Amino acid sequence: MPPLQSFTLSTIGIVHSCYKEKFGIPRQPGLVSEATARIELVPPYSRLDILDGLDGFSHIWIQFIFHACMTENWKAKIRPPRLGGKKKLGVFATRATHRPNPIGLSVVKIGNIYQEGKKTFIDLHGADLLDGTPVLDIKPYLPYADNIEDAKGGFAPSQATSQIKPVIFSELAKAQCEDYESLHKRKITTLIKQIIEQDPRPSYLSEQTDREHGITLWDLNIKWCARIDHFEILRIEVE
Ligand code: SAH
Repeated sequence: MPPLQSFTLSTIGIVHSCYKEKFGIPRQPGLVSEATARIELVPPYSRLDILDGLDGFSHIWIQFIFHACMTENWKAKIRPPRLGGKKKLGVFATRATHRPNPIGLSVVKIGNIYQEGKKTFIDLHGADLLDGTPVLDIKPYLPYADNIEDAKGGFAPSQATSQIKPVIFSELAKAQCEDYESLHKRKITTLIKQIIEQDPRPSYLSEQTDREHGITLWDLNIKWCARIDHFEILRIEVE
């Protein structure tokens, strides 16, 4: 038998998500509840019986490939953004995307499980996954074993965001969001608010105000900037 040092894994599904680029995706799942996505199972796994029983669970663990950062090398020590880029920690003490094996792990709330034609889907709520993410495995979240009440959080803060600043929409952005919502079922106003509240800027820009940023959600590019005591949504551009 050959030494067990490398393995071949195959994609079981692909994520379709509101996040079309890495910038703006929250640091962990559950932080932006309005983020909608779905997993499409790929053949030969595209069948409903493979998910039989999953509808009894509210959440799943998703193991996936960080496919959008596979060309960059991993380092033994990295600077987690949550520490303002000031302190270095071992890569295995962090949830960094650049790792020896580019595998991600997210616990995500599930919605409907269904087929459209020959395709099989699982709806996801609050996922932190880029559009096109290849999925390796799905497992049910087991509250009795996975919910550890007295767990220690290391360097990670006990709250997702220490200081939430209000998000204010310009008159133009507000009208553009309302127009979009009347045409689509997507609650884009809440989605934008929840994402910007997390302050997605890299730590080296976190002190800077009035600089214009853009985040792509679905087919929209959201232009926004940080002011001293709030975030402002400037306008929405259609891609
Ligand atoms: N919950 C996961 C991901 C944490 S890192 C885990 O702990 O393993 C979160 C970051 O992953 C997000 O900010 C996003 O930019 C990045 N990300 C999500 N999907 C990705 C993908 N397919 N390729 C590369 N980066 C991705």
